[in-house]
Amino acid sequence: MRLPVFACSGPSDWVRVAAAVLVLGLLPVLLDDPFFILVLQSLAYLFIVTLGLDILVGWTGQISLGHAGLYAVGAYTTAIMSTRLGLPFWVTAPAGIALAGLCGAALALPSLRAKGPYLAMVTIAFGFMAEVTSNRWSFTGGPMGISSIPPPTLPGGSEMTATQYFWLIAGVALLCHLLAANLFRSRIGRTFRALQSSDIAAEIVGINVYRYKVLAFVISSVYAGIGGVFFAHQSGFINSDTFVFSFSVSLLAAVLIGGSGTLYGPLVGSVILNLIPTVFASLYKYHLYIFGGIILVTIVFLPKGIVGSLRQITWFRRVHRETPDIASDACIPDFAPGSLPHGAALAIRQLCKSFGGIRALNGVDLAIAPGTIHGLIGPNGSGKSTLVNVLSGVYRADSGAMMLGDCALSPKRPSSMARHGVTRTFQNIRLFNELSVLDNVMVGFHLQFTCGFWRHFLQTRAAIAEEAAFRRKAIALLAFVGIGERAHDRAQDLPHGQQRMLEIARALAVRPRLLMLDEPAAGVSPAELSNLMRIIRAIRAAGVTLLVIEHHMDLIMQVSDTISVLDFGQKIAEGTAAAICADPKVIEAYLGAPVAPGEVVAAGA
Ligand code: ADP
Ligand code: MG
Repeated sequence: MRLPVFACSGPSDWVRVAAAVLVLGLLPVLLDDPFFILVLQSLAYLFIVTLGLDILVGWTGQISLGHAGLYAVGAYTTAIMSTRLGLPFWVTAPAGIALAGLCGAALALPSLRAKGPYLAMVTIAFGFMAEVTSNRWSFTGGPMGISSIPPPTLPGGSEMTATQYFWLIAGVALLCHLLAANLFRSRIGRTFRALQSSDIAAEIVGINVYRYKVLAFVISSVYAGIGGVFFAHQSGFINSDTFVFSFSVSLLAAVLIGGSGTLYGPLVGSVILNLIPTVFASLYKYHLYIFGGIILVTIVFLPKGIVGSLRQITWFRRVHRETPDIASDACIPDFAPGSLPHGAALAIRQLCKSFGGIRALNGVDLAIAPGTIHGLIGPNGSGKSTLVNVLSGVYRADSGAMMLGDCALSPKRPSSMARHGVTRTFQNIRLFNELSVLDNVMVGFHLQFTCGFWRHFLQTRAAIAEEAAFRRKAIALLAFVGIGERAHDRAQDLPHGQQRMLEIARALAVRPRLLMLDEPAAGVSPAELSNLMRIIRAIRAAGVTLLVIEHHMDLIMQVSDTISVLDFGQKIAEGTAAAICADPKVIEAYLGAPVAPGEVVAAGA
């Protein structure tokens, strides 16, 4: 039986949780030494902070160098409230954690609007602000800090002993780990990890990348706040000396050394983070050099960190262990035509897009009938990909109008186009490389998941059932494009042709009404080409409208109902394959010689 809260998928998971509880319970009893218990306490709360940072850095690929500041917010809030207002730990701790989360939101909301290294810069600035504020502000005790922070009290009113406090921190750390594990396995964690590979690919399946990055930052800040709260009540005294830039750097170092993007990396990293000052106590003033050295060695010899490197070794074995699961699911019906929504008519009028002096699209008109395949050909640089980029919301048109069915499109971002049922594949393949083939398709279902964040975070029955249902659909889609047996491989390990098929499967998961394929046959072997034609025709048979850009004349002539030809950003011809082949303007601009369907293999490539 599966309990509702944690994604423990079998008895072995519950055995591991029970073992962890047993070890954490017995450790301070068996090794009854005050110093050792203190070290264990620090290890447990630093693990929470490192885990939170890993969710941000290792999962979504963002950098924060100001986590010491968020840690300080948790610590100072609980310290001030308990020493000045005399409030109990059970009130001040949630307040500290909540304020750290709010500060995280306040930092992330503006800085994540901009692309590039702004978040890292803003977090550095925040870290310095927190340090200077705590050092100068009388409310935070200035350089003298805040002392006499009481330990938490038990329900009877007596203060917790060091061992009891360790049990509390360790219990919360275990809870944080289990919740992070839930997140990792759920669609939320998968979405976070997808962002690391490609923002744009995430957007075109309907993910609002900005919102998810903010969410990751807030979760990470909450975890930092929890650590700060525990630290304040452990040491009983805080001042600005703890919340310095180098502490943020060491947290980041712990994530990288342990293995970013893994669940157990932060544990290994925080053990190392905790042990270095203890082991090298006499070399304390050199601790940043020691960290620097360890980071350098890790990056050179173990670029994925300690746990990440171990995971790479076990990947192969895991793949082979999980393969039977796919085989048993192969009985699921193949791609069902009725499973996709009906294609919509596309109408484009006078579409223009310029890049500086280059008029990539110069007043393009296009009408595509619903449920048909429209081929788009033309020489390199004629504006084909730009048209797809504008239609999918990657670029904004300078002028012109676009209608999908009865709906006027004015895309603000690709995710809004995906919500309209418009999605695409890319000329230069964009997969979520680090995710498995199956997970790439699962990310494609983003808009169809109905369970929200909390249900996935707590792994309710509904969330688990929904995940399983989409998993079966993903397997069916992979079987449909002919790569079902690769489901558990990493996407980046697939050969080029199969990567193109995976991109199509992921796009189908969006349930598109208009699907645009940008050079789907590029790099595809002749054997795979007939499979590709079968797939494209089957998608049309399912009722989807397709816009296919291709240099491969054999394919485009055989599958297209209508073909348009672009040259220098303008449409120079439109018609059936036969009419296009005979059009002198097309022959002059693109084909170079008269062509009959089936004769020419590739042109203009
Ligand atoms: P095609 O896909 O037909 O080969 P593209 O649509 O990629 O052509 O490009 C059309 C023109 O627009 C080319 O001259 C290209 O250099 C230019 N172009 C496309 N994207 C950009 C961009 N992001 N910045 C500047 N120029 C671009
Ligand atoms: Mg192109």
